[in-house]
Order: sequence, then structure tokens, then C-alpha cells
Amino acid sequence: MILGDPAAAAPYHAARRARVMREIASRPFDALLVTSLVNTRYLSGFSGSSAVALLTAGGAWFLTDFRYLEQAAREAPGMALERVNDLAEGLGGLLARLEVRTLGFEAEHVSVAKLAKLRQGCPNVEFVPTEKIVETQRLIKDEAEIGTLRALVAMLETAMPAARELIRPGAVERDVAVELEYRLRALGGDGPAFDFIVASGARAALPHGVASSKAIEPGEVVTLDWGVKGWGYYTDTTRTFTIGAVEPRMQEVLRVVNEANLAALDAVRPGAELRAIDAAARDLIKAAGYGDQFGHGTGHGVGMVIHEEPRVSYISTGVAEPGMVFTIEPGIYLPGIGGARVEDMALVTGNGLEILTRGLSKDPLWLAR
Ligand code: ZN
Ligand code: ZN
Repeated sequence: MILGDPAAAAPYHAARRARVMREIASRPFDALLVTSLVNTRYLSGFSGSSAVALLTAGGAWFLTDFRYLEQAAREAPGMALERVNDLAEGLGGLLARLEVRTLGFEAEHVSVAKLAKLRQGCPNVEFVPTEKIVETQRLIKDEAEIGTLRALVAMLETAMPAARELIRPGAVERDVAVELEYRLRALGGDGPAFDFIVASGARAALPHGVASSKAIEPGEVVTLDWGVKGWGYYTDTTRTFTIGAVEPRMQEVLRVVNEANLAALDAVRPGAELRAIDAAARDLIKAAGYGDQFGHGTGHGVGMVIHEEPRVSYISTGVAEPGMVFTIEPGIYLPGIGGARVEDMALVTGNGLEILTRGLSKDPLWLAR
């Protein structure tokens, strides 16, 4: 695992910083202050909870306090380490030394109060708001990131037979979620990527029906939306199960959702409009008469954040590019009755796609066969 080994990961972090440094060279400021912890980790490898990065067109500095010095030296070996007691003061000193006059900051990640404090500590510096400089780089996953996502999905594959056994008549939704969380941790994951959705019967009509104290009953559909996090990355996948024979309408809903999932996956290739990928699923669901019951986008990017760019929806404007990873998760929700969703993680490749979650069976009839 590249990202589990600072020495192996260092060249990837250096390449990411180099791309941001090139970007800075073309912008109207001397340096970029990276305050988002996720972006700081992306550029450095540092997994702690307090640090900022400063990048210029020619160098990269890592600022943290006493508590994290040792960890930063180990995890972020490629950056110049600066110990600060007070961030604003320490930053002010560094900027003066580097003769930085204009400083880009991440407008989406700095509170008004924090900005006021930074300005106080750096009185002779002009602050320039920026947006999504690092996030834009994060859209395209590198080999180290893709390897991490593969390793996490492999944990889900290993735990899948347990999911199959656990989701049975009489089982309580919450117990299923807790047991799967435990198994994923035992397999080496850092924990659940989010509160698992285990939604049975009428609860399957809730797109975000977090596992409750309800028991699963024969004749119900059960939606399992789960994922594991590790090495700073998230995974997200959904399968819908049937507990014995379910009513014909729910069988039809399941069939349509499966077809919509496959149609959208089929539309994924480099250059494809994200809107068109959404339409591939949406048109099929509309044609089956369930258009109003599919009220969310078809997918979202997933990486260091569970929901990130790009969005795959009818209002998306971008196109799929090699290295993007996003979910394809059409669903149909019938209030008071039930619902279904099937969610895969797709990696856009040079000539098509790789379905990262292809090893997770879509056969809903676990208990019937
Ligand atoms: Zn999900
Ligand atoms: Zn999702």
C-alpha cells in the first residue's frame, strides 16, 4: 500500500505539490496558504489534525505545532517543517522571510474569524481569496489513490459474505450495521465511511435510512449502503437484497434500478458529459414510470471526502476524464412501500471505465438461492 508507507508515497505527494506550484506561478499571488486538512494531507501525507501548508511557485513549507512535529517529520518528509506556537504569528514570520506580499487563501475553508486573526499576524500581506485550487487536482486520482481505493473495496468484498449472512429474517438493522463495521475494522479499515444505511421494508423508501432498531422481515427488500475508510480515503457502495419472495411491484423496481445502474455505467467513458451519464439512468427510470421517485443525482465523486466533485446529475456541466472516480447510484423510492438503490464506484480509464466494485454481487436473491 503506497499511501501506508511515507517513503513510497513521497514521490506522489511531491508530484501533487509540483502541480499546485505550477498553478501558483500563473496566479496573481506569491503563495498559497492551504488550511483545509484534507488538502494539506493530499499535498503532504500528514494524517494529524492540526497543520497548514504554504506553497510558493518554488517551494513548500509545512507548519504545525509541537504536538505534531515528530509525526510531520515522518509522514511529510518532502516539505520544509516549521514549528509554530501561534499559527498567525508563525505564518507572519515565514511570509516576511520569504518576502511574500500577496497570499492566496482557501476561501471555502477559512472562517471570517480565522481570516481576521491571520490578517493580524501578517499585517503587510494582501490576502486573495481562491477556490478549489487543490480540489481541482484531486478530481484526477493518481496511481497511489487508485491503489488505496482498490484495497478498501477488497475489504468490502471480503466482508460481503458476512453481509449476506447477516441480512436475514429477524435480524435487527442496527445489529447488521454494527457487525459489518466491526468486520471492516478487523480487516484493516479505519472505520465506517459513514453511518451505514440498512433500510428494510418501507424504510427502504428513505434514501438515507440509517440503520434503525427495526427487525428485517420475510418479503421485504433491504438496502445496504456501506463503505470503509482508510489511509485518508473513502468508499461507498449499495446493494439491495430481497428476503424471500417480494411483491411483484418491488421486483419491478429492483429490475428497473439495476437496468438504470447498468445503462449509466455503460455511458461512462472519457469525454462523456456527466449530464449524459445521469440521463442514461434517469431516462430509463422515467420511461418505466418512476421518474418522480428518483429525486437525487445519479452519482458523486468519492475520494478523500465521501461526497466530492464531480457530481453526476442533470445539472452537471463537466465531462468524465481519465482518473476520475465517481459513484453510479440510481434509486427508486416509493413512500410507505419500499425502494431500491444500486451503487457502484466507477473509475474513468483511458478508453472506458473500470467498475471498482465489480466484485460485489448484484444478485439480490441472497437467501432464496
Ligand atoms: Zn452510498
Ligand atoms: Zn453515494
